[in-house]
Amino acid sequence: METSPGSRPSKAAVFLDRDGVLIEDRNYVHRVEDVKIIPGGPAALKRLTQQGFMLFIVTNQSGIGRGYYTLEDMHRVNAFIEAEYAHAGVRWHRLYFAPEAPDAPSRGRKPSPQFIFDARDEFGVDLARSFMVGDKISDLECGWNAGVERALLVRTGYGSKTEKRYADRMSQAVIVDDLPAAADWIIQRVRSRPDNDPNRGHPGG
Ligand SMILES: [Mg+2]
Repeated sequence: METSPGSRPSKAAVFLDRDGVLIEDRNYVHRVEDVKIIPGGPAALKRLTQQGFMLFIVTNQSGIGRGYYTLEDMHRVNAFIEAEYAHAGVRWHRLYFAPEAPDAPSRGRKPSPQFIFDARDEFGVDLARSFMVGDKISDLECGWNAGVERALLVRTGYGSKTEKRYADRMSQAVIVDDLPAAADWIIQRVRSRPDNDPNRGHPGG
């Protein structure tokens, strides 16, 4: 299915949750000194960049709506995380965040697929050939709601808890240990296609 606007070629993407996926989840991380990058994460995402995937961060930041920290705190932490990955050769395309508390109206708070749709519309992402990686059920639901090829659950962050608590829904998900394992799974998936380029060829064809 062609999902990109106009004649722009569609591209595959990987959508990534932040806390518990790119960095350790230490409950409402809002200071740079509390950021702990997931071991092997930057090298893993560099491999995805080299494979031609566009990379997006999609993060719920309810700590802002709850009054725990400010928008500026979040931007500072985001910039630090993005730079740590970029130094390793990762190319980011955009970060989407939902600052609202869980009970407040929100345009894009996961499990809403809205931010993934925004990326599709703005960057010409082919969702049927794209992936979502997260540690909570709302991350997986966001990917499923958007119609990505597969949603991957990492066991870091809340992932192990999610795996047990929502065991009845895990058959839909791809479960891996961590971000490096997620990247490896995605790269293997692409290599198993008739055309190794993530942006060409046809699923199942
Ligand atoms: Mg998370």
